[in-house]
Amino acid sequence: MKKFEYYRPESLKEAYGLMEKWKGKADYIAGGTDIIVRIKQGVVRPDALVSLRGIEELRARSLNGGLTLGSMTRFRDIERDPSISRDYPALKAAAGWLANPQVRNVATIGGNICNAAPSADSVPPLLVMAADAILEGPGGRRKIALEQFFKGPGETDMKAGEVLTAIRLPEMPDRSGSAFMKMGRVTQDLAVVNAAAFVAMEGDVCRKCRLAAGAVAPVPMRLRQAEKIVEGRKIDRDLLDRVAETVSQEVSPITDVRSTEAYRRIVSGVLVKRAIAAAVEAAAAS
Ligand SMILES: Cc1cc2nc3c(=O)[nH]c(=O)nc-3n(C[C@H](O)[C@H](O)[C@H](O)COP(=O)(O)OP(=O)(O)OC[C@H]3O[C@@H](n4cnc5c(N)ncnc54)[C@H](O)[C@@H]3O)c2cc1C
Repeated sequence: MKKFEYYRPESLKEAYGLMEKWKGKADYIAGGTDIIVRIKQGVVRPDALVSLRGIEELRARSLNGGLTLGSMTRFRDIERDPSISRDYPALKAAAGWLANPQVRNVATIGGNICNAAPSADSVPPLLVMAADAILEGPGGRRKIALEQFFKGPGETDMKAGEVLTAIRLPEMPDRSGSAFMKMGRVTQDLAVVNAAAFVAMEGDVCRKCRLAAGAVAPVPMRLRQAEKIVEGRKIDRDLLDRVAETVSQEVSPITDVRSTEAYRRIVSGVLVKRAIAAAVEAAAAS
């Protein structure tokens, strides 16, 4: 493995300063479960790593008219937070399905997002719950819709030196629910397909629906054609079958080591259908 310098700044300013000093030859490291693997494989060869572990504000977590999660929040913390389980069940489920307890003890939500893998498990739940990303860097602080953050596999909207500081989720309305589904080759693997659904109900009728899937396109995607079928309608078996068919056409998966394009199309329809049914159940219980 290539040798690198290692820094552990205690403030964001110090962190950007180090990135400027290394002029594009340094990378941030959070939990290290992605970047260390890529360094070992020789896919990335930074001269320096700037750890975000010493920056206290990146660990903050607050539930106050919505949910703010510091980017250094570990999946183990998300999985164990009773307020997240109650109000943001899709995110809790995704955290519980990610890798294994050893990885979840160190892997962060910020790292999962910034890595920009099409299969990132936290992203479909965050997309359906209308998350914003808060970024801070030498150019100042900005907020963007998470959906605008991803530009391609491994590519994001982040500018040089910027840190993803937090994820902000709005308060979930009454009678709403969310759910996450994942299929992998084995339980502790990256997703062949993952999917999330959010519904806000008025009696039997769905007032608002947001759907998203991962590992079925270059970036995790919202499924807007399928959403239109659900909104304003009573959710029954026929409607869910139509949704599954639409999703299978709306996604644009590839064949790779984990699965074939054809299988991903079928599975994405099935998972979205199941996610909607589970989200409706969660809404009924809310
Ligand atoms: C055995 C194993 C199983 C796995 N299984 C899954 C799985 O089931 N599902 C899944 O989605 N992923 C899985 N992963 C991938 C990985 O664990 C997750 O993506 C994890 O969330 C990455 O977080 P991290 O804190 O370790 O990121 P790191 O490896 O520290 O960083 C990842 C990238 O993001 C950048 N970065 C990190 N934080 C920030 C920030 N705040 N601001 C700017 N840039 C930042 C880093 O520079 C780096 O490029 C697995 C990994 C392993 C090793």
